[in-house]
Amino acid sequence: MRLSRYFLPTLKETPAEAQIASHRLMLRAGMIRQGAAGIYTWLPIGHRVLQKIENIVREEQNKAGAIELLMPTIQSADLWVESGRYDDYGKEMLRIEDRHERKMLFGPTNEEMITDIFRREVKSYKDLPLNLYHIQWKFRDEIRPRFGVMRGREFLMKDAYSFDLDTESAVRSYNAMFVAYLRTFARLGVRAIPMRADTGPIGGDLSHEFIVLAETGESEVFFDKGFDAFDPLAVQPGTDEDLQPTVDQWTSLYAATDEMHNPDTASVSENDLVRGRGIEVGHIFLFGDKYSKPMKAEVQDANGSSVPVQMGSYGIGVSRLAGAIIEASHDEAGIIWPESVAPFKVGLMNLTPKDAECTTTCDRLYSQMQEAGVEVLYDDRATGAGAKFANMDLIGLPWQVALGSRGIKNGVVELKNRATGERQEVAIDAIVGKFTS
Ligand code: ATP
Ligand code: MG
Repeated sequence: MRLSRYFLPTLKETPAEAQIASHRLMLRAGMIRQGAAGIYTWLPIGHRVLQKIENIVREEQNKAGAIELLMPTIQSADLWVESGRYDDYGKEMLRIEDRHERKMLFGPTNEEMITDIFRREVKSYKDLPLNLYHIQWKFRDEIRPRFGVMRGREFLMKDAYSFDLDTESAVRSYNAMFVAYLRTFARLGVRAIPMRADTGPIGGDLSHEFIVLAETGESEVFFDKGFDAFDPLAVQPGTDEDLQPTVDQWTSLYAATDEMHNPDTASVSENDLVRGRGIEVGHIFLFGDKYSKPMKAEVQDANGSSVPVQMGSYGIGVSRLAGAIIEASHDEAGIIWPESVAPFKVGLMNLTPKDAECTTTCDRLYSQMQEAGVEVLYDDRATGAGAKFANMDLIGLPWQVALGSRGIKNGVVELKNRATGERQEVAIDAIVGKFTS
């Protein structure tokens, strides 16, 4: 992408309304703009990041055996009356009336709707286990939307729902999601700690929150230092027998989200417990027949009797993650994107656009990178070199390639790694190969 033809409205000044780094940087780097409180437009560069996060989430859900569908944003109130949550959900629910005075709502979550789909189509235990998910916009009329996309009112969530015949099988489905979450967050370049959580208004038996450590997080956490020794990507998805020990191993390391819970310190000595703050990026629940019973989502078991199906639900805050990743990875100058979610891999800068040879060479490098499938943002604008460097640091692409008249003379570009700050000179003809091998 040529920057001169792109839509990247960056800001020099720090926006006054932004209290935390990720919100400031998302505004300054031209990722988002607010439409109304807690409601955002994702500008092109922000949209690219959101799609990358979404795709990693999707790949890991698919690997874990979940099946994607897409439910609507607008739901009928009837289903929520059936489950008993229409009144319980309170003011966070955006209630709408259509022209026929039917009660509708903008979905804050989808347990009711998926349970309805399930009960209409699935009748036999032979069709279980089943895990259905979608990645869809939600609306919650949060009392204090703040911190940009971290606590929005409209936000993008991945929500999966598992259906099993009995508790034992439901726990296996839960464990598969647990492992998928560890892998997902690791691929997104963040450390998310699984914490045993309250089941809250959704109710039920077993629940974990996944917390990314950050000073500005809204949750207080206690965790075991030993956590750092574990590599989530070493855990393979889909190997049923190995899941329970893996989950046990991980959950023996967490303590609790706060001191209100009983810190589960059985296996952890006091000295090894670290207190920190963090951002909840995922939340998983096993809640049994909480919805299937009142909504009569039943299947025939092997003996031919009808039993309510055992359910779980599994959320990931896809849009919140964009902010959480920045909270965990930035410096004074701007964002530092992990490669897996960076909007572009390489920022190519023409430092002396008035120099015809330099421009020809930059244009050629740009074409070669594009042909090689390297995602490149090419700053071909007629602005000064200082502004170009500052802009690249702000938007945080993993690699910067700078070429000016001096480089042309010496036959080299300057390559900078955004994360380490390390710079090196690379022969002009060798630079494209750096990103393709
Ligand atoms: P919180 O305690 O932060 O309000 P929650 O427990 O209400 O979260 P869930 O209902 O479990 O959240 O939703 C699943 C995920 O969706 C959360 O883990 C979080 O990452 C994300 N999420 C929830 N509320 C918001 C919001 N207002 N803005 C952005 N993301 C959100
Ligand atoms: Mg909430």
